[in-house]
Amino acid sequence: MAEQNVIRCSFCGVEKSTQVPLISGNEGRICEACVKLAHQVVTSWGHSKNEEKMKPQLRTPAAIKKHLDDYVVGQELAKETLAIAVYNHYLRLLNSRKESLDESDAGVELEKSNVLMVGPSGTGKTLIVRSLAKILGVPFISADATSLTQAGYVGDDVDSVVTRLLDAAEGDVNRAQWGIIYIDEIDKIARRGGGATNTRDVSGEGVQQGLLKLVEGTELKMSKSGQRRENSEEVVLDTRNILFIVGGAFPGLEALVSSRIQPKDSSIGFHSRQESSEPELNELLENLLPDDLQSFGLIPEFIGRFPITTFLQELDVEALLKILTEPKNALVKQFRQLFAYQGKNLDISNEALNFIAQEAVNRNTGARGLRSVLESALHKTMFTMPSIVGLRECVLDIEHGEQGGKLQVRNVIDNIEESDSLAAEHESSAALEV
Ligand code: ADP
Repeated sequence: MAEQNVIRCSFCGVEKSTQVPLISGNEGRICEACVKLAHQVVTSWGHSKNEEKMKPQLRTPAAIKKHLDDYVVGQELAKETLAIAVYNHYLRLLNSRKESLDESDAGVELEKSNVLMVGPSGTGKTLIVRSLAKILGVPFISADATSLTQAGYVGDDVDSVVTRLLDAAEGDVNRAQWGIIYIDEIDKIARRGGGATNTRDVSGEGVQQGLLKLVEGTELKMSKSGQRRENSEEVVLDTRNILFIVGGAFPGLEALVSSRIQPKDSSIGFHSRQESSEPELNELLENLLPDDLQSFGLIPEFIGRFPITTFLQELDVEALLKILTEPKNALVKQFRQLFAYQGKNLDISNEALNFIAQEAVNRNTGARGLRSVLESALHKTMFTMPSIVGLRECVLDIEHGEQGGKLQVRNVIDNIEESDSLAAEHESSAALEV
């Protein structure tokens, strides 16, 4: 065919054929590949227009901490440390573009500050990170390190946490790249046996290596809608700017650090450690050495990528009491709301609140225990309440008996307290012995 008769795509010049049909316009023609490319370009314009909206709402560390106070009781040191860490992280990201344009600053590259949180289970580690992400308006996911496996092993491989973050960002790659990933139970994937190489836990170390790759920054190819839809568009996600926060109970770590600082204290006197627990945490932090974490089974390269460490303290009865009633979505407020939806009032006596907090301490599951104690105390009531005619109020209180106190629910029906026999029926399954 003579060249002047050949019909080509006006953009890439590909020749029209039965396999390559062209769409004709007034002035030229376009092939399918160029339509797709043009779509991608136009979509990216959309992203840059939306970029302003996508940016985290950066507030000062003090404002972030104040907001955290609405949700998280106590843990002052951890809240402050994390408020500073996320502020600096997003400050760095928001300025990174400016920096690259400004030649004079080109030499200064701020490193990412990932955070390691050490604290018993149920003390608010996940809650703090989740609340931070909410305050900043960035996508967030939390994962359990013990559910992750080294690539090639059965289970969720490490990269799946990034796929989940993309899902949380509703497929928006730019938003996901600025998100936060929290990995809990990081101490449980520690290489066991510390420095003793003959007891190496290879899979634990493999997971650390996999996470290390993500934390340091890598480009992952994945389907835009996570792994759920077939034929979904493929995207490349850069993990360089994702903020990684890891947490774990690290049982024994405090004792390890304390034993090192003990001689200093004992020289001052036997009761020298009786101040408030806050300085104790600071003291622990000041004396924590990378070797302590290493002896716990974390590999040095991994520790090096988490330059910020913070401690959370065990929650005592007083803190648990506050958790029950004070935060914006405190448990007691939630249950009262549930009752209010049904037109009933829920009253919980101070003595009952104390009992619940004490019971949670006994269970040793931190604030997590509060919900289960409250749930089982109100279990029967929640079952029967919707069908009791005229029920106005339920009172959760303590009944004192020979074997001590137990939680009991008293029903108030149209100003008349329910007869003992009926109450006893409710009490029997709602009761919790001390
Ligand atoms: P962790 O991650 O330390 O194991 P979580 O943050 O998941 O614990 O806490 C479990 C639940 O307990 C939270 O959802 C929250 O309701 C409650 N909780 C724990 N610690 C606190 C706290 N310091 N202030 C308020 N609520 C808390």
